Amino acid sequence: MDHKVLINSNAPSRIKQCTTITKNFFLTTHHEMGHIQYYLQYKDQPVIYRAGANPGFHEAVGDVMSLSVSTPKHLRVMGLLEDGPDDLESNINQLYKMGLDKIVFLPFAYLLDLFRYGVFRGTTAPQDYNCHFWQLREALQGVEPAAPRTEEDFDPAAKYHIAADVEYMRYYISYIIQFQFHRSLCQLAGEYTPGDASNLLSNCDIYKSTTAGNALGKMLQLGSSKPWPDAMEMLTGQRKMDASGVLEYFQPLHDWLKTENERTGEYIGWEPSTIRQSDSRHPLSSPERVEASGATRYGTYLTTTKSLKTKATTNKK
Ligand SMILES: [Zn+2]
Repeated sequence: MDHKVLINSNAPSRIKQCTTITKNFFLTTHHEMGHIQYYLQYKDQPVIYRAGANPGFHEAVGDVMSLSVSTPKHLRVMGLLEDGPDDLESNINQLYKMGLDKIVFLPFAYLLDLFRYGVFRGTTAPQDYNCHFWQLREALQGVEPAAPRTEEDFDPAAKYHIAADVEYMRYYISYIIQFQFHRSLCQLAGEYTPGDASNLLSNCDIYKSTTAGNALGKMLQLGSSKPWPDAMEMLTGQRKMDASGVLEYFQPLHDWLKTENERTGEYIGWEPSTIRQSDSRHPLSSPERVEASGATRYGTYLTTTKSLKTKATTNKK
């Protein structure tokens, strides 16, 4: 289905999207349909309230659907997955795959706007834009550029939301609160009981649960007419965004990783990057110069990296 239009002609809504048939597009389609569903749910609000409770809510709706849709249980119902074992190994594999999406994304989403706050506040000077971006990438994600960088490069612009000036914190918020929403909906659907190890939150599918659907619909129908904590409370009983949902979801993987990392003696954390970053106006000329400029320019972030390492070592004990 290369570059074809995806249309649901029976529903009162449709989206037009260039897709290929992959799992990623399957999930992206649900994400985009989540936005549409939100529009439909708050369409009767006065026009100024026809918005998400906050931008993070808008991003979370479709992802909440995706959390159910991507379970092996649901994929089997849809005939997209053959019958396979439902054991600890397959659960850990499923969670690991989800973790690479949902957990790995968090520091990136956070730092992208952290970088922009520096730009907007003027605490990051234009001649330091690229350098500051990579400082954050290394300190928070443990990622380094593939090749030496200078201020001639402007790597943040490779991200659509930077070039198009779209605020990014909404995705960070979404990746936290979608697990709070998912947990509550799963309880309403009778698919999850906290503390019951035989019913993992990562295996919950709210498909066809009108109780869960109606509860979600009620929250979405508010649009932005109430402060977001009111909307959140209506569905979850919680007035604050917190990581309890995401932690609960990934608990079996967290336990497994702790044991596995102890068993293999895995180093937790990362070493400081040795990739050079130079000021284009004052190109580095010798290795000594690298050392000298590194010491001052990266003083702050080296401290951060060091404290991350110290923390990791403490955790290992
Ligand atoms: Zn979106």
